[in-house]
Amino acid sequence: MTSANPIRPSADWIVLKFGGTSVSQRARWDAIGERIRERRAEGVRVLVVVSALSGTTNALQALADSRADAYSRANRAQTIAQRHREFALGLGLDPLTCIGPLLDELAALAQDPRTSLATDCEAALAWEAELLALGERLSSQLGQVYLSANGLPIALCDARQWLRAMPLPNQTGWAQRLSASCALDADSAWRARFAEQGEVLITQGFMAADSAGATTILGRGGSDTSAAYFGALLGARRVEIWTDVPGMFSANPRAVKQARLLTRLDYEEAQEIATTGAKVLHPRCIQPCRLAGVPLWIRDTENPHMAGTVIDATAAPVLGVKAISSRRGIVLVSMESIGMWQQVG
Ligand code: ASP
Ligand code: MG
Repeated sequence: MTSANPIRPSADWIVLKFGGTSVSQRARWDAIGERIRERRAEGVRVLVVVSALSGTTNALQALADSRADAYSRANRAQTIAQRHREFALGLGLDPLTCIGPLLDELAALAQDPRTSLATDCEAALAWEAELLALGERLSSQLGQVYLSANGLPIALCDARQWLRAMPLPNQTGWAQRLSASCALDADSAWRARFAEQGEVLITQGFMAADSAGATTILGRGGSDTSAAYFGALLGARRVEIWTDVPGMFSANPRAVKQARLLTRLDYEEAQEIATTGAKVLHPRCIQPCRLAGVPLWIRDTENPHMAGTVIDATAAPVLGVKAISSRRGIVLVSMESIGMWQQVG
């Protein structure tokens, strides 16, 4: 870091996470650039975590699910590649230089010999993880080149070099590779090395690496969790989840007209609302922030100046029911035994 740098060597990080719809239009990338500039004006370093372009992970998953059919694999890979080439052109970028190597990887994975293995063997799961990771690798690469070309120098950081997946006891091979959890054990040396990459960084959500360095996926919707892991590991000032709704509500606003925006929640309340039904935040993303005491903000990409929901440890508890969630298609099994006559549990 040079002495001319206006950012203090110990400056805090702010993590900004943008979901699929927030990265799928050129105007949205301009808005991401504005958010970064605003945060820089607060004198902080900025880490941007992105999802894949909307629909891409579904398309990659469909490719993985059709692994037995070479023709379908090739077709699906072609469609995904074409979408990204067109998006690059829409950003005014040359697809060949910008994402050519990643599209070559996609084509190679679509023909990979591992597609003929049993779907749950280790090598086949590793293939699927590499394939799914391409969505976020593509979107982060496009964003890095676009923002840099538009006067906002930003460095690409490979999430797999920083987030370490950690196998849990009794976890299946599938979950270890495709629905992993990460270690939260960064020390000051880890943080110093991370900071050496630059003061404005962009990285991929949804992925980590295992202790051997192999690509590992955090489960569907896992980009929120990636942002939370980075926020916790960096001891960030806050993690901002930028999405297509203004925050968490007292009920589903699509179903209940009188639903209120909840402007302040503590971690436990947010955890309950996220776990019981609200789709705003991935339920796994609250715990890392809670453990590290990092506030989580939910913000609306379309309405950047709306306050949104702030989740932290200082929200004053308000007595009464905060929110109501509903779930459909649940089967309740009630079991009774003599020893538990009229007891619950
Ligand atoms: N792209 C991944 C998914 O669709 C992760 C995410 O967007 O959170 O599941
Ligand atoms: Mg999401």
